[in-house]
Amino acid sequence: MKVNQAEIVMSAVSKAQYPDTHLKEIALAGRSNVGKSSFINTLLGRKNLARTSSKPGKTQTLNFYLIENQFYFVDVPGYGYAKVSKKERAKWGKMIDEYLLEREELEAVVSLVDFRHEPSKEDCQMYQFLKYYDIPVIVVATKADKIPRGKWNKHESMIKKALDFDKEDDFIIFSSVTKQGKEEAWQAIEHYLA
Ligand code: GDP
Repeated sequence: MKVNQAEIVMSAVSKAQYPDTHLKEIALAGRSNVGKSSFINTLLGRKNLARTSSKPGKTQTLNFYLIENQFYFVDVPGYGYAKVSKKERAKWGKMIDEYLLEREELEAVVSLVDFRHEPSKEDCQMYQFLKYYDIPVIVVATKADKIPRGKWNKHESMIKKALDFDKEDDFIIFSSVTKQGKEEAWQAIEHYLA
């Protein structure tokens, strides 16, 4: 998809603030620093619509991006900040559960993991959570430019094994530096928008 129009339309912390336009939504989840903002910007062909390297402690909100007046990307705040207090983490959990489990417009979740490393405990929990509740998931392995191609198979196997990956799901090797996987990612997403 070639995107001409994309804008952030709102930030929400609870369902009263979600848009009420009934357009389909694709959520994006991943631990902080995984490359989620870079992924969104790459898909949209923008330099800085989604803010990269968001800082810990900033307000944790669901950010809705309206794309071509057709659907939304919903940026789910990154998990895995060690510095966040227990109370804040509980608040985050409640906000995410409410969105992922109750949002009828949600069609699929792009779950981002770092292609270089074993998925974290939170990565595995997120994937298993989505599988358990039958929420369609597209796994995107980021920062592939940092791994030589000869090792891609090894890294893919390592990640799939740790996630207990369902081979019916999409697994996309991605880099916002080389744009590797951009077309594949759009194809996977468009499948859920059809
Ligand atoms: P977010 O916190 O998940 O939104 O992550 P960001 O998109 O802000 O990226 C975190 C850091 O990783 C930044 O320094 C990015 O420049 C870097 N980064 C993101 N994607 C890639 C990638 O595909 N390749 C490389 N080499 N670095 C990346």
